[in-house]
Amino acid sequence: MIDLHSHTTESDGTFLPSALIEEALRVGVDTLGITDHDTFAGYDKAIPYARSAGLELICGIELSTKLQGGRSVHLLGYFLGSEGPAPEFREWILDMQAARHDRNIRLIARLRELGFDITLEEVRARGSGLIARPHFAQVLLEKGYVRTLQQAFDQYLDESATGYVYRREPLFAEGVERIRSAGGIASLAHPVRVPGNLRTLMPELCATGLNAIEVYHSDHSQAQTELYLELAEAYGLLITGGSDFHGAAKPGLWLGTGRDGNLRIPGDLLERLRVSQTSGRVSETSATAATGFLFAVKKEDNLGASD
Ligand code: AMP
Ligand code: MN
Ligand code: MN
Ligand code: MN
Repeated sequence: MIDLHSHTTESDGTFLPSALIEEALRVGVDTLGITDHDTFAGYDKAIPYARSAGLELICGIELSTKLQGGRSVHLLGYFLGSEGPAPEFREWILDMQAARHDRNIRLIARLRELGFDITLEEVRARGSGLIARPHFAQVLLEKGYVRTLQQAFDQYLDESATGYVYRREPLFAEGVERIRSAGGIASLAHPVRVPGNLRTLMPELCATGLNAIEVYHSDHSQAQTELYLELAEAYGLLITGGSDFHGAAKPGLWLGTGRDGNLRIPGDLLERLRVSQTSGRVSETSATAATGFLFAVKKEDNLGASD
């Protein structure tokens, strides 16, 4: 069984990298993609455990990006080659970590303004790598302000909730460009969560050089999976799939099989990803078109930016 989307304690998962490898073995996942938010630390730490367990580990990352107009879209990067991501990419994600740090300080201030007794130290103590909103949810839960992690999101932390604070994020087009120039495959994460009408957005998303879509995901119904398969075919995109396992941070969701076994990821998609990567997957025309688009987007964004 394969699973190309999972998180460790280095981002907002609750399994240590070593424990995630053990869990993969336990449930029968033999090819595992670690896609922590904005960091490779979980992947790096899992390497020796995966090696001694004979498990195939795929280097991945999940980036939070935004489209024109500010809509938030998650993007997965996969680095299948033996070298992993180019060093410039590892350096580039330090920016994202800094933006997170800045957001965390403002989020604490906002939650305190809303009347919660919460400190950054308390939130930090709930994570071991970088800090994400589930760590804030954990503190709100432990202090009795909410009854479930989901309630913390629904009432305070979700983008539409009262406590939400803005975080500086790269444009989707820049994310795609950075992943691809670092030798990776860029896949649209959980398309079900893309705001607005995906069908009409596809030309804009694909013009950036996006080359894959996460057709299989725990949040996708059968009908949605079929729609994303159809879009993959129509736009010539590669297909990825994964559970988005977070351990106790997303209860009821299992590595490899999703929610109540709703996830069946065909093992052969990995071979197609590999073949495409080794055969110089970027066609010159799409790369050129993507770069032109990127600059157009950036220029407009700068004009509209207020900070
Ligand atoms: P951050 O990267 O710090 O903005 O936190 C984002 C993470 O919070 C996501 O990766 C999810 O794990 C979780 N999350 C975001 N929105 C929700 C939501 N509405 N309900 C539950 N979990 C969420
Ligand atoms: Mn997460
Ligand atoms: Mn995501
Ligand atoms: Mn994820």
